[in-house]
Amino acid sequence: MKENATYICKDMELPDYALAAINVLERAGHEAWAVGGCVRDALLGRAVNDYDIATNARWEDVEHVMASSGFAVHRTGAKHGTVTVSRNGHAMEITTYRADGKYTDGRHPDCVEFVRTIEEDLARRDFTINAMAYHPERGILDCWGGMADLDAGLIRVVGDGNERFSEDALRILRGCRFVSQLGFSLEAGTKQAMWSHKMRMSHVSAERITHELTEMLLGDHVRDALMECIDIIGAVLPELVAMKGFEQHTPYHIYDVWEHTAWVVQRSPRTPLARWAALFHDSGKPGAFFMDGDRGHFYGHPLLSVEVARGALARMTLSPSFVADALTLIRLHDKTIPATSKTVKRALADLDGNIELFRTLIGIKRADALSQSSLSEPRVQLADDLERVLGEVLAADEAFTLKQLAIDGNDVIGLGVPAGPEIGRILDLALRAVIDEQLPNRRPELLAYAESLR
Ligand code: ATP
Ligand code: MG
Repeated sequence: MKENATYICKDMELPDYALAAINVLERAGHEAWAVGGCVRDALLGRAVNDYDIATNARWEDVEHVMASSGFAVHRTGAKHGTVTVSRNGHAMEITTYRADGKYTDGRHPDCVEFVRTIEEDLARRDFTINAMAYHPERGILDCWGGMADLDAGLIRVVGDGNERFSEDALRILRGCRFVSQLGFSLEAGTKQAMWSHKMRMSHVSAERITHELTEMLLGDHVRDALMECIDIIGAVLPELVAMKGFEQHTPYHIYDVWEHTAWVVQRSPRTPLARWAALFHDSGKPGAFFMDGDRGHFYGHPLLSVEVARGALARMTLSPSFVADALTLIRLHDKTIPATSKTVKRALADLDGNIELFRTLIGIKRADALSQSSLSEPRVQLADDLERVLGEVLAADEAFTLKQLAIDGNDVIGLGVPAGPEIGRILDLALRAVIDEQLPNRRPELLAYAESLR
């Protein structure tokens, strides 16, 4: 730890409930500070996720003092000294000052050791910008140069990077995530240490890896993070690495496959589904590539991308339906869908009527076209046109699913067709005829058509 802890009097807003929690603890004779992410985000003027409080009180005392001051108290992590308290629906974690014991598994400390001072507690934290504490009267306690790094936009590890990342490899992914969320750079020594210890991320649970990667994909600066961190995240997603520096040799592209991908992720809708699909949409390109004279081609790459993504996504803790939707988006990202009501309804029918999935597909198509050369401008326009036609189809309540069809299975049975697969076949053909605008979606015409198919 650095010897001189700096107290900086800088005003930082704390919400009433966090101020109240600090006051309650201090009036009972303890010491308490707001710490970590809330200090970082408040100083940056960003929305604060959660307020964490560090105190020298033992968790049993925290529980007692807070409960007798009207806070609801939940014993969430007593082993680690954490008590969750809440007031008016706002939850906070209050954790006793602690240092982590030895790490032998590359992720979890073998034990936690409670310590006496806030300075010792700050020393166990991952990055300097996350290792500051704030007290409404004492100001900001910044022992590790976190303020300077906030100003400089740097993610710098607290203490020795080699030690800190081998203790807990989750910090490596957290570092990449903060690059994406904050638009900061990795301080050179920190980056080197993250890179040297990247293989230790195999000790991190799939759940935490999935969480951190998803947060990274949703960050405001994900393009920059993907460019800066590919050699690090390649250790958990090796399927991405072949895209780095892979030249496309076509006038439709101005970036290599990885930089193009980074842009597409950045420009895709800000949802986990769109971002994960965008990350892999061209992952099959290196495998599909061939040169014809001086032109590169990638025929069939979406299907290869689906296979690459299938393997990678299976290692994440994403739900089966999420993965299925992501693979659908990857498969269709390059398919041309003309902007007519017929083709839009056909596309919707192929997606089982999933309107949100279709909107996401349009969003990825637009992002893809925007991240190519100016030759692809017509495809940006096409995406906008698809969005408009989709709006018209929905506003007119036009049918594109069996549910919307003016006849159902009972009507077909009423025509004397025995219950069985034939019913589905007839209804599918009737829906197709309505989608293709050969028939109106009205009972008499549809019944006559069904009759004619028997
Ligand atoms: P956010 O809440 O926006 O995800 P955060 O930095 O607050 O970001 P939390 O997981 O809430 O992240 O952790 C709170 C604080 O605990 C961090 O700011 C950091 O000081 C510390 N911390 C969290 N995870 C680790 C870790 N793996 N190693 C060391 N310190 C950590
Ligand atoms: Mg937090």
